[in-house]
Amino acid sequence: MSKIISREVRLASRPKGFPVPENFKLEELELPPLQSEQVLVRNLYMSVDPYMRGRMSDRKSYVAPFEIGKPLEGGAVGEVIESRAKEWSQGDIVTSNLGWREGFVASPKQLRRVNRDIQPLSVYLGVLGMTGLTAWAGLQMIELQAGEVIFISGAAGAVGSVAGQLAKLRGCRVIGSAGSEEKVRFLREECRFDAAFNYKTGAIYDQLKLSAPEGIDIYFDNVGGEQLEAALSVSRVHGRIIACGSISVYNDEKPRPGPSNLFNMIAKRLTMKGLLVLDWLERWAEFEKEVSGYYRAGKLKHRETVVAGIEQAVPAFIGLFQGQNVGKMVVHVADPSPRAS
Ligand code: NDP
Repeated sequence: MSKIISREVRLASRPKGFPVPENFKLEELELPPLQSEQVLVRNLYMSVDPYMRGRMSDRKSYVAPFEIGKPLEGGAVGEVIESRAKEWSQGDIVTSNLGWREGFVASPKQLRRVNRDIQPLSVYLGVLGMTGLTAWAGLQMIELQAGEVIFISGAAGAVGSVAGQLAKLRGCRVIGSAGSEEKVRFLREECRFDAAFNYKTGAIYDQLKLSAPEGIDIYFDNVGGEQLEAALSVSRVHGRIIACGSISVYNDEKPRPGPSNLFNMIAKRLTMKGLLVLDWLERWAEFEKEVSGYYRAGKLKHRETVVAGIEQAVPAFIGLFQGQNVGKMVVHVADPSPRAS
């Protein structure tokens, strides 16, 4: 194997409040020579995700914090360039958790095979990837029923847009909130939401109440804060809440007081369940079967915002907190090699 140079993004310092470019460093390194039972992979697409912000702080969470000076990790789709393991061959397309770098040497167990015929390959980071699984798992947990009214915040993002489309396919009335007119149009026109509003241009409670005059049965929470408060107020008796994310507070330097109207939990006998996608990995095959069926049949749209080059990974990550993405935010790192005919 000839000398292979790769670049990777490392954590240079822990962000205080909003992440800034100086918290990261792009470094070049030479990959080690391939040993027996090892595989050389070149990344094609990598994922940037809001949950990574939590791992940049030095506090214990459900996954260990990133270490300063070490590369970040995240979902990626790559191509096997060379293999010394019998399970893998040159040209195989794989997913891994070894994103934020152009290439890497892995053991066979760190890779998962995906079907190259499903395009674009970045779909394995979105609808058919971790964020798609999160959306699917949330709806399973809440035991969604046809005819129910569901409100989804962060609805035009990777998780929200899939959760909403799946809820539509299950016969629900779907309401979404997002941070721009373009996103609201995307929800109404492409994702076929029944109602959508821009949470930045009017009172959230008023807009939600207008969209759901009879109240909501389910709230799929991606953002927390004010939208959670509005959902508590507009929930029906025995309503259910899926706590998936809380992006509106991820960059807070001090914890904020909780919802001022939590008493609704009691008065309306609400249920709130916390979701962690890692608990659902064993159900990947079931998720994939159902959701890839919808995707192939054209019933589920995969929308993404693609930036080009590993140099753009940090701006893309920061952009998540500024609402720069519609659908899944991904970084295009390289094109796959042409297929041997
Ligand atoms: P998105 O694709 O939705 O990207 C983030 C979006 O969040 C932005 O585009 C922006 O959209 C919105 N946003 C940013 N800041 C704010 C704010 N202050 N208030 C309201 N909205 C804001 O990300 P994902 O779909 O990947 O993730 C969605 C949520 O789900 C996140 O909270 C994430 O941490 C969580 N998650 C949880 C998992 C779990 O296992 N529990 C797994 C995966 C994700 P807009 O323009 O609409 O403001």
